[in-house]
Amino acid sequence: IVELLMPTIQAADLWKQSGRYDAYGPEMLRFTDRHEREMLYGPTNEEMITDIAKNTLKSYKHLPKILYHMQWKFRDEIRPRFGVMRGREFLMKDAYSFDLTVDGAELSYKKMMALYLKIFSKLGLVAIPMKADTGPIGGDLSHEFLVLAETGESQVFLDKTFMKENIGNTNIDYDNPEILESIFKRNTTLYAATEEKHNEQEFEKNVLPENRVSGRGIEVGHIFMFGTKYSVPMGAVVANIDGSNVPMQMGSYGIGVSRLVAALIEASHDQDGIIWNKSVTPFQVGLINLRQGLDITDNLSERLYAGLQKAGLSVLYHDTDDRAGNKFSDIDLIGLPYRLAVGPKGAEKGIVEIKHRATKEMIELTPDDAISYLVKEYSVGS
Ligand code: ATP
Ligand code: MG
Repeated sequence: IVELLMPTIQAADLWKQSGRYDAYGPEMLRFTDRHEREMLYGPTNEEMITDIAKNTLKSYKHLPKILYHMQWKFRDEIRPRFGVMRGREFLMKDAYSFDLTVDGAELSYKKMMALYLKIFSKLGLVAIPMKADTGPIGGDLSHEFLVLAETGESQVFLDKTFMKENIGNTNIDYDNPEILESIFKRNTTLYAATEEKHNEQEFEKNVLPENRVSGRGIEVGHIFMFGTKYSVPMGAVVANIDGSNVPMQMGSYGIGVSRLVAALIEASHDQDGIIWNKSVTPFQVGLINLRQGLDITDNLSERLYAGLQKAGLSVLYHDTDDRAGNKFSDIDLIGLPYRLAVGPKGAEKGIVEIKHRATKEMIELTPDDAISYLVKEYSVGS
């Protein structure tokens, strides 16, 4: 797996080679440069990566390879909605696999599926792989990863027991084909489909009535296997063992990085605001000085602010003159996993208060114990 960074602006020529320049439609933003060359702002990178692969991967010995980047995309969406949920400009992580054989490509696909399950579960998300339409990317095998949420734009149908089965895999050998095969089976056997691929008869036949769920979902990722759809027209071939040229077997794999921010919030909030997972929170601790301007609280807060940072934690320090109640609701709304509050009474006794955002559980500790406690909370399971 190799990370690279491709440009946002692409030459139309590449897309004419694959045949997608005309097929893509008005979602593609097109323009010309000073030499009147037709250009576009990349909505995705299959063509560009195929061209890169064509010029760098020359032999079967160079395969398999997975290349990826995280880069801005532009799609002139008819209806951009909910800010980062559906923007015209958005950040995507896109990966592309190159293999010598169809079997190899299938294994790369399964490896990426297993990795996606791991990534989403590390983010604290239940993202369910569902049979999906291949759309303008094209291909033979495709799954979308959906997070269930009422505000989701996709209609989805699934077997309720899936949610329990769909557990991210952390410590497994991603190069072991048998393990990849079993993860793939476990995550594709139970019924789960988006509207485009939904089949009511199959749904009723294969899923017990009490387990049938239909609801809304947010698409956070999409994986495709499309064989030689781009490598054949663009001439991306490698020399095989016998010296003959064979087109590479490809797949592509996207995660909507900027959309994830919205999906995480939709999937994890309450009436008071966001509840960030420890792995993605913008700050690890929200520190509140409940009486700004009083020496004893100011001093203790400053000491904690420095101490927490020295211990390696990132801190959002609410040191404005606002009322204590407002400061509490600000930090709840922002949704940091832990709130650390310093009040005048506690400060006199040498006591501060930690609140868990998710469980609302509160504990009182000495300042030094509070720092140790938070450090420990962030060191487990990460
Ligand atoms: P959608 O069906 O939501 O329009 P898509 O199928 O066109 O998405 P892909 O080409 O599969 O999208 O792109 C990979 C990922 O990029 C998607 O799974 C999604 O998370 C994200 N994504 C796509 N379009 C947008 C957008 N306009 N704004 C934010 N994220 C997006
Ligand atoms: Mg999609």
